[in-house]
Amino acid sequence: MPQALKKKRSKKQRVPVVQLLLSGSILLGVVGVSVLLANFVQTAPVVVEDIQQPTAEPFAEALPLTPVPNPTLTPTPAIYAPFGAQYGFGGEDLIPVSTALAEEEEIIFSPLPTSTPTATSIPTSTPVKTLKSGMDGADVKSLQERLIELKYLDGTADGIFGKQTEDAVIMFQAINGLTADGLAGAKTLSVLYSASALSADFAPKTDFLILVNRQVPLDQNYVPSDLVEIEKVLSSDLVKVKYKGTKANRSAVEALGQLFQAAVNSGISKWQISSAYRTYKEQQKLVDNSVSTYLKNNPDWSKKQALSATYNTVAPAGTSEHQTGLAFDITVPGVSFTGTEQQKWLHAHCHEYGFIVRYTKEKQSITGFIAESWHIRYVGIEAAQIITKNNWCLEEYLQNVGM
Ligand SMILES: [Zn+2]
Repeated sequence: MPQALKKKRSKKQRVPVVQLLLSGSILLGVVGVSVLLANFVQTAPVVVEDIQQPTAEPFAEALPLTPVPNPTLTPTPAIYAPFGAQYGFGGEDLIPVSTALAEEEEIIFSPLPTSTPTATSIPTSTPVKTLKSGMDGADVKSLQERLIELKYLDGTADGIFGKQTEDAVIMFQAINGLTADGLAGAKTLSVLYSASALSADFAPKTDFLILVNRQVPLDQNYVPSDLVEIEKVLSSDLVKVKYKGTKANRSAVEALGQLFQAAVNSGISKWQISSAYRTYKEQQKLVDNSVSTYLKNNPDWSKKQALSATYNTVAPAGTSEHQTGLAFDITVPGVSFTGTEQQKWLHAHCHEYGFIVRYTKEKQSITGFIAESWHIRYVGIEAAQIITKNNWCLEEYLQNVGM
């Protein structure tokens, strides 16, 4: 275990009973996903995921070269089961039995988390004020204390509603079947302070093989479990995190730490993470900002025109793989990544640590994205080895092993 990594968490993960109950509906979902996948492989348009090297525009996850219609991603939380169902288990079922076994052997079917949260009253007078990013004060502090109690937030409550608090609210909402918008309004607060509030222990196990692309977008309420701040797991000696507080899935971050350690041991250093987890809301914000700019610069345009232009350079919310917490943009500070020794080492070795280079030139007609030398995706070591050995992309892997 590299020095830079903190002690690895136990691999034994609890599987909420509700997740098992959901397996019936998951099986039904497989048929739909398989059909989508088969259809996708034939018809995927080539689009751009990142319009340029992330050293210049780390958040501009770009998309299609041709204008596309606004995807109909209308979140309807009422149709979801109270927890878990919104997490999109489709890809998990495409794992062949032999591949899935290695994972299942490690699972302990333990009872549901026993620490039942106790109800507390909402510490605000009526009508309840909606708490949101940028606010501060006693109400925010109480909110944070409750989020800490329920394990959505670590540290101490400082009364300032920043990004970490917003992420915690989003995750709480997703797990509790609420619209995951990061706004702590009356409904969210009433569930949060109730005895039936579900803690972060109820987050479903992450599906490392989840497929995200334009044909298979993620829902607004898809929030990955087990997110960690990268800087809290990996040493700054090993890798620079360009934007403080950037999060990703814990297993993926730990694997990335091993990858960087091996690279450094081989004399390849100066690694940087330009981007990792992005919320649906952050991606939507990028879209909204771009639409506003287009409308400002082109007063005669309709909103539809501005949206079409936007989708040439910004991924519609839900279609960015970064929402899974399993994708990373790896760069070298101040240098264009393609062609560097770091890029070559990464492409030659990342599969040994469970990563694939997700978008290659060769597979762009299948992935629908043009090549991105810097974008890697965690899929787990076994899948990464198979994908690399067979020279497949993720879509091909899922189709070949899942049908
Ligand atoms: Zn990326």
